[in-house]
Parts: sequence; structure tokens; C-alpha cells
Amino acid sequence: MLSPRQVVDYALQRRALLADLRAGRVGQEAVCDAGAYLQRAARFHGAPVEDSCPVCRKDRLVQVSWVFGESLRHVSGSARSTEDLELLAAHHPEFTVHVVEVCGTCAWNHLVRSFVLGTGRRPRRGRRTADG
Ligand SMILES: [Zn+2]
Repeated sequence: MLSPRQVVDYALQRRALLADLRAGRVGQEAVCDAGAYLQRAARFHGAPVEDSCPVCRKDRLVQVSWVFGESLRHVSGSARSTEDLELLAAHHPEFTVHVVEVCGTCAWNHLVRSFVLGTGRRPRRGRRTADG
């Protein structure tokens, strides 16, 4: 079970961007710009969700979780499956997860939410702080 902390939802920004797109204030090429790397990550690590793509409405969206954190070392900045997140959360004190939705058809992509995972404990090794 994951227990995310400091959850930030980007639904408002997403809605605003989609409104701009429908009003013609931004072009589709500006918002449907998922690169090859993101598309590949979506294919291998993405979790399909119920919602269809808000732009092309042809494809189901996939959500990819990117992890960032000093304690993750080389894993930081990579896409991870939900199972990976559970493992990482059990072994690392703190790291940030960015969930990005991606459409495999039109390349729409947007940050859905971000949150912090981890044991919340300080790492056993490493320097102590002045008050510790
Ligand atoms: Zn699409």
C-alpha cells in the first residue's frame, strides 16, 4: 500500500490548458509533444486509466510515474511501475513521484499529480545534523 504525502493535483492547470487548446490560444503541436523517450516509458511502465485522451479521444490514456530523489541515486529520473514504487517506498526515506498522462495516438502529455513517498525515516548512514 502506498501512502503518498504532499500530494499536489494539477487538474486545474490541465483544464486551463485544454480550454486554451479548444479556444485556439495554443496549438495542438504545443501540447501533444510527448517525445520518443516518454512514449517508450508509457509503453513499458505506464498504467492504463479509464479516461480517454482529451485531445484526440481515440485512445485510452496511460499514466507514467517518474521518480526523483537523491537517495534513489541512478534510479532518480526514471519511469517506474506501481510495483517498483512500492519497493522503493519501503527502502528509501523520501523521494518525489511525478505522474504524467500520455496518449499513444496523438502524443498529448500532462502532469497529473505529484507526491512524496518513502519511509519518512532518516537514512541510517550519512552525516548527522548538528542537533541530532
Ligand atoms: Zn490523444
